[in-house]
Amino acid sequence: MECRFCNILQKSYAYGEIDKPIFENDKFFAISSLGSIIEGWLLIIPKNHTLSMKDFYQQDDLKEFVNNILPVMEQKYGKVIAFEHGTNKEGSPTGCGTDHAHLHLVPFPKSLINKLEHSNLNWTECRPSDINNFSKHKEYLFYTELNNKWDNSQGYLSILDFPVSQFFRKLIADYYGKFEKSNYKEFQFIENSIKTIKNLKLSA
Ligand SMILES: [Zn+2]
Ligand SMILES: [Zn+2]
Repeated sequence: MECRFCNILQKSYAYGEIDKPIFENDKFFAISSLGSIIEGWLLIIPKNHTLSMKDFYQQDDLKEFVNNILPVMEQKYGKVIAFEHGTNKEGSPTGCGTDHAHLHLVPFPKSLINKLEHSNLNWTECRPSDINNFSKHKEYLFYTELNNKWDNSQGYLSILDFPVSQFFRKLIADYYGKFEKSNYKEFQFIENSIKTIKNLKLSA
């Protein structure tokens, strides 16, 4: 199957400017997310095609990459949350329409913890580096709030017994009163992505 993120590495850009990395090193790149309900929404993507981020949470490379980007984001947009829809098989509805692992970094002034607790899923506190052990081979959702840096501090993990589609997008869309626009394939908010690229490139 065609992978949009792998294509980006071959400099084949399905979404033009939006697909061009804003930040990049030898292991990861970051692009502005399609369907950015809020300006500043980034995807952190490993250059290796793999299903989820859980192995990267145990390595310093990811931490270094994220910690270079966070100050730039925070200076421009304020507090940042991070989340992942961790899939375990190609084509899973959990995976945001891509089989290529990615971590969402989103400027968000509040906390989603209250909404997690009131969702129909079970959440446990978990450090990113423990996700691999806890999730075994199951799919998972992970949420954490960042304070200036990615330091492996506690976030919230939900192990999934069934696929869950666009979970965090729906919570964020709901927060902004745009629940009906939570499907990013229909509502791409291209204008927000373009602003993100302009503003973060200027500050980088
Ligand atoms: Zn890929
Ligand atoms: Zn995703």
